[in-house]
Amino acid sequence: MATVLIIGAGGVGNVVVRKCAQVPEVFDRIILASRTVSKCRAIAEQIDRPIEVEALDADDVAQTVALIRKHKPDLVVNVALPYQDLAIMDACLETGVHYLDTANYEPPDVAKFEYKWQWAYQDRYAAKGIMALLGSGFDPGVTNVFCAYAQKHHFDEVHSVDIVDCNAGQHGQAFATNFNPEINIREITQKGRYWQDGRWLEIDPMSLSQDIDYPEVGPRRSYLLYHEELESLVKHIRGLQRIRFWMTFGEEYLTHLRVLQNIGMTRIDPVDFQGHKIVPLQFLKALLPDPGSLGATYEGKTCIGCIIEGVQGGKPHRLMIYNVCDHAACYREVGAQAVSYTTGVPAMIGAKMILTGTWSGQGVFHMEQFDPDPFMDALNRHGLPWKVLADDAVPRLSR
Ligand code: NDP
Repeated sequence: MATVLIIGAGGVGNVVVRKCAQVPEVFDRIILASRTVSKCRAIAEQIDRPIEVEALDADDVAQTVALIRKHKPDLVVNVALPYQDLAIMDACLETGVHYLDTANYEPPDVAKFEYKWQWAYQDRYAAKGIMALLGSGFDPGVTNVFCAYAQKHHFDEVHSVDIVDCNAGQHGQAFATNFNPEINIREITQKGRYWQDGRWLEIDPMSLSQDIDYPEVGPRRSYLLYHEELESLVKHIRGLQRIRFWMTFGEEYLTHLRVLQNIGMTRIDPVDFQGHKIVPLQFLKALLPDPGSLGATYEGKTCIGCIIEGVQGGKPHRLMIYNVCDHAACYREVGAQAVSYTTGVPAMIGAKMILTGTWSGQGVFHMEQFDPDPFMDALNRHGLPWKVLADDAVPRLSR
């Protein structure tokens, strides 16, 4: 029985709280804290178990430390924004409490994400005897566990990994993002990056694409992006020669994005507007639909997985491990669309792994560093069942 403090009452936070509430044998007490406390209350009111709510500005380490001292959680789950990662890690370090997140740190004034800032906590977390589990969402998160599972059970050597992320859903809006618009647009307007033969290669944003035939969904145009899990998987998957990440985008979405970029609405530097400084991307976020509100009309499926090639028993071997998730089914269960659901469920499972001692350690860890089997079992039990295709049944990539 444990106490969990969840920070962030957005689309993902809603799912984490509801899924933790479904597992009372692990999550005995649940506290939800966020900048806007009314959003915490709105989530708590939907749940037939007591959820304690608190107002918190997690950029302020002292506030988070005080809240941790008040409630004495065993674990802090950070599903606020990547900007808060280091401040929340500092508060956990000061109070000696385990930490989990779903996205790596980004400095607010530079659109750049990498793990170096969080890896720098390794020695201090180890000395304090606590663990940080980084990237316990779907991608990063489940995709890392899929790679570890393939390495453990299906390959002597893994040579290439293509992480493939398809959202074939329709929400009925002309333009909306499926998670926080600011973070999402910063991610996809960056240069594409992948790793091959021991080095990183960079391409212009969205300049490499191909049709991928996703199981249960069909062919969808998919674009090579840089994604954070590539950075840790390169370190932890033995024998890897290439790793890439592909994500689907519709024409309508890309056209809107191009226009927004061309007119400067995706800029992250402050500009003068009628005597005020405003950041265009933050203003755009205020205009776009809240991703948490898309669920009611969302139809269709997501299909996210890993296509892995390598050698088993001296022979070439191919495998695809994936999950298909239905937007409308997620909405019926937890009032959220599938992108929030596929992130929130693994955050709950990661929390469960730590709180039950199934995954334990001292320092800063990625998902692929632990035994994948209990996590894979939990995915099947908590709403994200996975499937495996082998050899000729695996979709072929044309590039
Ligand atoms: P939302 O914008 O919907 O929610 C973020 C929440 O954090 C909001 O409630 C916001 O408060 C709160 N927040 C922001 N700043 C602070 C602060 N300083 N102190 C306290 N609370 C704060 O985002 P999502 O739910 O869509 O995404 C949550 C996280 O999940 C993001 O980090 C995102 O990158 C990650 N993610 C990970 C994925 C994965 O597969 N690994 C996939 C999708 C998302 P307020 O309401 O006041 O603005």
